[in-house]
Amino acid sequence: MTPPFLTAATNLARKYNFHVDSVISIAGLYGIEETENILKAIKSPGKRYFIRVNTLKASREEVLAELKHAGFEVRAYPLLKEAIYLPIRGPHSIKTYPKKVIADKKAAESVYLGANLYAVGILKIVGKIREGERVTIMDPTGFPVAEGIMVMGPEEVFSKRKGLAVKTVKSVFEVPSIRELEIYKRGWVYDQSLPAIISVRNLNPRPGFKIVDLCAAPGGKTSHAAQLMENSGEILAVDRSKPKVQKLRENLQRLGVRNVKILEADARYLDLIVGERDFDAAIVDPPCSSLGVRPKLSSRVSKRDILSLSRYQFQFLKVASKLVKRGGRILYSTCTLTLQENELIVLKAIKKLGLKLVKQEYFIGSRGFIFETGIVQRFLPHVHDTPGFFIAILEKL
Ligand code: SAH
Repeated sequence: MTPPFLTAATNLARKYNFHVDSVISIAGLYGIEETENILKAIKSPGKRYFIRVNTLKASREEVLAELKHAGFEVRAYPLLKEAIYLPIRGPHSIKTYPKKVIADKKAAESVYLGANLYAVGILKIVGKIREGERVTIMDPTGFPVAEGIMVMGPEEVFSKRKGLAVKTVKSVFEVPSIRELEIYKRGWVYDQSLPAIISVRNLNPRPGFKIVDLCAAPGGKTSHAAQLMENSGEILAVDRSKPKVQKLRENLQRLGVRNVKILEADARYLDLIVGERDFDAAIVDPPCSSLGVRPKLSSRVSKRDILSLSRYQFQFLKVASKLVKRGGRILYSTCTLTLQENELIVLKAIKKLGLKLVKQEYFIGSRGFIFETGIVQRFLPHVHDTPGFFIAILEKL
């Protein structure tokens, strides 16, 4: 007989379109009932859309005034002077038209929040659709994400594979489109989740610091550190992916960050490229299973993926521990909820790399597993109205 836990996990996996291994890894920590609440929350983007004020270019008051002037409802986040948020509207119910357009997972997840659908994101068109017709846009599992109007002929969609194909008329959620605003283009703001903002605050970069960021692109944490350092000192920002390094360069340029040296390299071997061992701090924000990223309509992450990611993540911490000086700090963060990629990595780092955990100044999440309260911080989608997230601050002995 299958144990009830496995049956329940399998049912949840089916209901939420997750790989059963991911469900088991979350349910092993939180139990079945709470896991369902987590999965339900992950399906939605949450109620608040956070942005960080780039204090190198503008004050919070200036950004608030501009956004209000543009007609947005916006609030200051009381705990951190650089954090502000806008309400996310929804969920709205979506009509099912006879004509349907199936988008790939990534495109569907942004259409779900109000974006238009481009030809490149379309997998399939169901029924004979003409330009100007109303359609329901669905994700690959058949979940309706929006109503739209076809603005391109179906043949063109598959021959051209680019350009606007379906204009979104009504989406399940409405997230304010910050990136089209003038203040975004001017570099006054950066869209970043609350836990990500808190993570860099807890690292506490000071003016004049020398920092290395091992997985830096597209530059959210690097640019936040730069603003806390008031554009002084030096940040070595490393990323292995050429297109992402390009994105990083653009972001830093837009934000007016001038204390960053960019290096396109595999950071797992950074100690062989960089001679210095005197960094005041390091940021390790490596690829992870991303189970906390919202909204997520499905996930295929298996146990094998989780285990290989955790081996990968440890390699960055190992190098970071070589590059920081004694007393130097390392921020380790992920946007996932598994034990293997979070507490177990930290535990191994303590045992093998001569690191210790330090208390976090900004602690609004919940305690993690294994360690006492206040030491590692977890954010839970259904409790904190944030992405699922993990933060640890380590210090070199
Ligand atoms: N810290 C970033 C987000 C990092 S996402 C921010 O706050 O904006 C993880 C990044 O790790 C990706 O950009 C990916 O290209 C990079 N990466 C993956 N493997 C890497 C490696 N071996 N060396 C350096 N960067 C790597």
